[in-house]
Amino acid sequence: MPHAAPKLNAFPVFARVEGEAVAIVGNGEEALAKARLIDQSSAVLRIIASDAGEELLAFIAGSGATHIRQPYDASQLHGAVMVFAASGDEALDSRVATDARRLGIPVNAVDRPELCDFFTPALVNRAPVAIAIGTEGAGPVLAQMLRGRIDRMLPPSLGRLAALAASLRAAAERLPKGNRRRRFWSDFFAGTPARAIEAGEYDKARDAALDLLATNAPAAGHIALVGAGPGAEDLLTLRAHRLLLEADVIVHDALVPEAIVAMARRDAERLPVGKRKGCHTKSQAEINALLVELGRQGKRVVRLKSGDPLVFGRAGEEMAALREAGIAYEVVPGVTAAFAAAADFELPLTLRGVTSSMVFTTGHDLKGNSLPDWAKLAISGATVAVYMGRSVAAEVAGRLIEAGLSPDTAVAVVENASLGNRRRFHGTLADLPSLEARVDLDGPVMTIIGDAVAGANFDHSEPLAARKHEGRAVRAIEGVAS
Ligand code: SAH
Repeated sequence: MPHAAPKLNAFPVFARVEGEAVAIVGNGEEALAKARLIDQSSAVLRIIASDAGEELLAFIAGSGATHIRQPYDASQLHGAVMVFAASGDEALDSRVATDARRLGIPVNAVDRPELCDFFTPALVNRAPVAIAIGTEGAGPVLAQMLRGRIDRMLPPSLGRLAALAASLRAAAERLPKGNRRRRFWSDFFAGTPARAIEAGEYDKARDAALDLLATNAPAAGHIALVGAGPGAEDLLTLRAHRLLLEADVIVHDALVPEAIVAMARRDAERLPVGKRKGCHTKSQAEINALLVELGRQGKRVVRLKSGDPLVFGRAGEEMAALREAGIAYEVVPGVTAAFAAAADFELPLTLRGVTSSMVFTTGHDLKGNSLPDWAKLAISGATVAVYMGRSVAAEVAGRLIEAGLSPDTAVAVVENASLGNRRRFHGTLADLPSLEARVDLDGPVMTIIGDAVAGANFDHSEPLAARKHEGRAVRAIEGVAS
């Protein structure tokens, strides 16, 4: 038998309060909390407090609330559309509740659910949009947690977007009912007008909305090149998270963990485009073409890349292809692997008096005869972060030493930075070549070289080159892992 959905004992509604009086009885914290809540509306606050505490007094002065400085009397409630009994005194609160009921005014008594006609929600305020969370008093802490989560999901500019929508409602009503009108609103709330509002470009938002009203053309596609961060889900930015929830299609690299891809809308299409050794992958040209094609189809796409999209992410090529095809795009930064690795090692990338510059490199450009610029920077003291550096570790170390960098220069290596299974290694430039033989490291690896590395915390790292007998040591480690 199907289970009936549990029924709510308190049904949420939105009460009209504009210009109406809301009465609050109380001198202290409880009254202040309710006053702050109601002050988020355009109601006229009437605070009945014969002996208001300092904070409440300051609030009243700042908010322009009406202050009745007399002992409580039922006549003070007249004309209010809502009453709060918030005196902290049980007998007085009961009296207030009884009086309010007699006058036909709904009442809320703080911490006395049995006296309440209504409950106040935890509120996410994006006026005119409001999200009210209620638990029928079961869990105020739960309500606050949910409030925080929802608050983070919604752009601060949501209210402005809703206000623009309200101003266009009459014009939209003139569109043919059904598909055409629905499409206008979905393009409005998810397309160019919404993005322009978020960017603070209000005129552009209005123009784009008027275009949508006037044309029958399908919505333009949009590609967001989004940094997924180094791997830990909670290092994703709030903006990245929001875009993931809005996207129709997610095009992601293999390095982006499943848990992050899973944050997208359930019905979003997910297209892995590989880039992991040994897997079937699309060429960069195919990826560019795919993004252009999705854009032409009017899709909202999140192109999800590990770390920051502009750091060794081939974003340059993708942006050029999109520009050439006239498809709108934006870039959302992410925490790059070097920063995550440095954090895992408590490693200052710049260190007063030691180094004031840093280099992001791959080391793959060290193969030719001439030293690239970054090698010279390394020698003059910059902190060097080497991406994709495992297979060129010996080359990097050899060439830098040859060029004059001390073999004793400190080196830190992090596999799977930011993730629970991360591993940290420390050593010197002379030890670095041993990295190439480490078959036990199968996650992404970040190498950081420079004097600033000496400022890191080595409490949680293993020596990079402690194991002279590679084969045996690796077997021992694998034995522990399995
Ligand atoms: N755009 C990415 C880099 C892509 S290149 C960024 O900004 O981080 C891929 C290389 O990044 C890997 O070979 C490795 O060197 C590094 N990398 C990515 N994630 C990593 C992680 N969690 N730990 C260590 N290195 C990582």
